[in-house]
Amino acid sequence: MEPTKILLSEQEIPTCWYNVLPDLPEPLPPLLHPQTKEPTRLPPPLFPRALDEQEFSQERTIDIPDEIMAIYKLWRPTPLIRAYRLEKALDTPARIYYKYEGVSPAGSHKLNTAVAQAYYNKKEGYKRLATETGAGQWGSALAMGCRFFDLECKVYMVKVSYYQKPYRRVLMETWGASVTPSPSQETQSGRAILSQDPESSGSLGIAISEAVEDAATHDDTMYSLGSVLNHVLLHQTVVGQEAKKQLEKVDAYPDIIVGCIGGGSNFAGVFLPFIPDKLSTKRDLRIICVEPEACPSLTKGPYTWDYGDVAGLAPIVKMYTLGHTFVPPKIHAGGLRYHGMAPIICHLYKLGIVEAKAVHQNPVFESAVLFARTEGIPPAPEPAHAVKVAIDEALACKESGEKKTILLALSGHGHFDLQAYDEYLAGRLEDYEYPREMVERALADLPRVE
Ligand SMILES: *Cc1c(COP(=O)(O)O)cnc(C)c1O
Repeated sequence: MEPTKILLSEQEIPTCWYNVLPDLPEPLPPLLHPQTKEPTRLPPPLFPRALDEQEFSQERTIDIPDEIMAIYKLWRPTPLIRAYRLEKALDTPARIYYKYEGVSPAGSHKLNTAVAQAYYNKKEGYKRLATETGAGQWGSALAMGCRFFDLECKVYMVKVSYYQKPYRRVLMETWGASVTPSPSQETQSGRAILSQDPESSGSLGIAISEAVEDAATHDDTMYSLGSVLNHVLLHQTVVGQEAKKQLEKVDAYPDIIVGCIGGGSNFAGVFLPFIPDKLSTKRDLRIICVEPEACPSLTKGPYTWDYGDVAGLAPIVKMYTLGHTFVPPKIHAGGLRYHGMAPIICHLYKLGIVEAKAVHQNPVFESAVLFARTEGIPPAPEPAHAVKVAIDEALACKESGEKKTILLALSGHGHFDLQAYDEYLAGRLEDYEYPREMVERALADLPRVE
């Protein structure tokens, strides 16, 4: 029998990140400047030079600096686990493997880029990073990254999560970050929202505006984004390269790769290293992006130009979007609440290289509980979306008798999300139908780009 945990040694951690840009069959659309609407680099006062270079690089591989590698070794390589017990519970002939990023100190894949971003900012002499966080996973990852490179860290945390998830805030503060509920009185963008709606529960888009403004108005401060941008997806490719090596050790290759998409970084990190195979050998590999019905950008949004944030300070990108003023309903507990999606994922979806599915949160949590009861790990609500679709695919194999190999991106654990589990277990979780009217209203606010 194959091992349950497929491990690599420290020497087998990939030494470079994989950049998909030169391998794309058609070039990615440019980023547009929010005011001039002309093609732009990353906005100069916000990001260090090295990350801007990575954003547009045409090099297939980018070496991981030793200082970052030394920190990666605290939790990398992460395990690839054969889900024997889940397979048995489903009585499926499919082989399910999950790549587990929950072993990182922050509990998710986000440290892979947090450490890299803190490193490049430090190297270029900046003293402080400002960012936003939703559920708190990104904020906690960046808090640790900043701590390890002696940077100050300022986190604007979506207000509803700030109050619902106090332990994430405590984790950020333990690593030394300063955390403010957003919208706040500390920025113009925050004050503008509060004057219209003093009860605003906040959104990722609003928090991004506050963090961007903070960075733009402080010389020593840069902005840091935990998903969406090309350089963030790039840093996550360490995950997929490891998974590929681990599957090789047991002579396996996926028929299906499944992951959840919020801004797209964890899943891109897993599947991008498989894209050259898919394009060159025309391998019959399905890549399934899973999103919530309450925030279905790929499956329901138009492919168009939109701002990355509510205030229109971030660049305009071509993406599947629900509109930058869209705020997903508060009752949705499952994360993945961003209005848009990583341009790389949108481009691949447009080209038909990846597919997308939207799922409701009750079946998602049902799958998460089954996963916890068989494999032991309570998944974070986000990857629970992918668990649901992996289970559906495994059950389809049971019907058809096919012995497919499924690679599941398990981006983090749900130890800080037990409130959502509690609501599910108590039968209090509601499925939220696609909020068509809210989306139509938000789409009326799209920027005009000729
Ligand atoms: C943030 C987060 C996500 C969603 O963000 P992506 O950029 O789409 O990966 C998914 N899973 C976990 C555990 C997260 O913390």
